[in-house]
Amino acid sequence: MITNSVFVLSKNGKILKPTTPVRARILQSQSKAKTLKLFPFTIILDKEVDENVEPYLELRIDPGSKFTGMTLVDLNKNEVVWAMELEHRGLAIKMDLIKRAGVRRSRRSRRLRYRKKRFDRKKPQGWLPPSLRHRLLTTQTWIKRLLEVAPIKSIAIESVKFDLQKMETPDIEGIEYQQGTLFGYTLREALLEHWGRECVYCGKTDVPLQIEHINAYSNGGSDRFSNLTLSCEKCNQKKGDKPVEQFLKDQPEILQKIKAHQKKSLSDAAAVNSTRKAIFEMAQQFGLPVISGDGASTKMIRIKSGLPKAHWIDSSCVATDQIVKLRICQPLRVTCTGHGTRQVQRVNASGFPAIASIKKNPMTGKKEVKLVSKNQKYTHATAGDYVVCTLLKDRKHVKSGIYCARVKTPTQKGVEVLISGHRIAVDRQYIKLVHRDDGYEYSFTAISTDLLRFNAI
Ligand SMILES: [Zn+2]
Repeated sequence: MITNSVFVLSKNGKILKPTTPVRARILQSQSKAKTLKLFPFTIILDKEVDENVEPYLELRIDPGSKFTGMTLVDLNKNEVVWAMELEHRGLAIKMDLIKRAGVRRSRRSRRLRYRKKRFDRKKPQGWLPPSLRHRLLTTQTWIKRLLEVAPIKSIAIESVKFDLQKMETPDIEGIEYQQGTLFGYTLREALLEHWGRECVYCGKTDVPLQIEHINAYSNGGSDRFSNLTLSCEKCNQKKGDKPVEQFLKDQPEILQKIKAHQKKSLSDAAAVNSTRKAIFEMAQQFGLPVISGDGASTKMIRIKSGLPKAHWIDSSCVATDQIVKLRICQPLRVTCTGHGTRQVQRVNASGFPAIASIKKNPMTGKKEVKLVSKNQKYTHATAGDYVVCTLLKDRKHVKSGIYCARVKTPTQKGVEVLISGHRIAVDRQYIKLVHRDDGYEYSFTAISTDLLRFNAI
């Protein structure tokens, strides 16, 4: 078997044993079952079943900063029967919030009347930054979705533990460890000492040095010590927000020096660490036994099992001491895309309304903000939905046939879908809605030939 198992429900809503894609297809062709859900693929039988299936799967989760791997493992054989990789959008959320802060900043310096505070802005206990909170919430959503369709007995989560301070300066101990790496220094002094009081790019000394972000702030680079360096004004200006690899492509030895320094950058580790506890606590609310594993033994089991590194394979090796086998080699890839924006009026970099979204109303001659889908005629598929559409004739770039595509824009007559990068208009009677837009994009990762060689598959 190559692809994920198919989840099966009975007509009266009982969770049954997942089946193979082949059997699911046979059941559907004999009209004994219908598709209930496309992602995760679930069929519903046309008959009622009375007996309960004893839960025998373990949901194993490896929470990461950019990807979270989730696998369902058959506990009787320690075999992976279903897998997915959840791609997070932490950076996108962070950049959106920086943008919003920019817009609000201009308001603060305007001359406005005093307004009383409306509520206490203290952060509640257990507060997580929005970019990290989204990792927790999307993981929760997917645990919920899987519990609805699969006979799951227990949940196992890798509780990766990083000691951030030790990773940044591995040799410190005692009082120095308690007081932090920057104790007794200001940040600037620490940088000057670390980088030898010279411009890191051109080596000039005795010039005013500026604090330089190796990964530019505008690209999501952090203010951590490990992302900062010192450079003269000229080099700083010249580098701008270019990636350091591109800026230093002719000076590999300087690049190597900076890279060695940046390796210690811990922003990813920090993200995992602060969400780790929260994810573990969240999983306990589902009323199933929750087991925790650590990163080191996950890696050990993966290597013992002879499996390559991938987010979903890592997750399958969480909290087990037996060799893991794979029955599948193509996980479902789920990308968090969000639900668009709630902002009605887009603004430019200075916080003023962006001209593009203001339109003159031809009837009244007045300028007005165009609201998306306000006066649009109702079509049953809206932007982002997955539809199956039938093209009867060849179009300019796309041949006739049956396609599964995402709706780009609803139109008066039907929808415009995106097929291999081209907008194709399809009339209402030729489309069938198969999956509503739910803030995720679905795809399948390419099957790696490495994995096919394993005898387990
Ligand atoms: Zn310089």
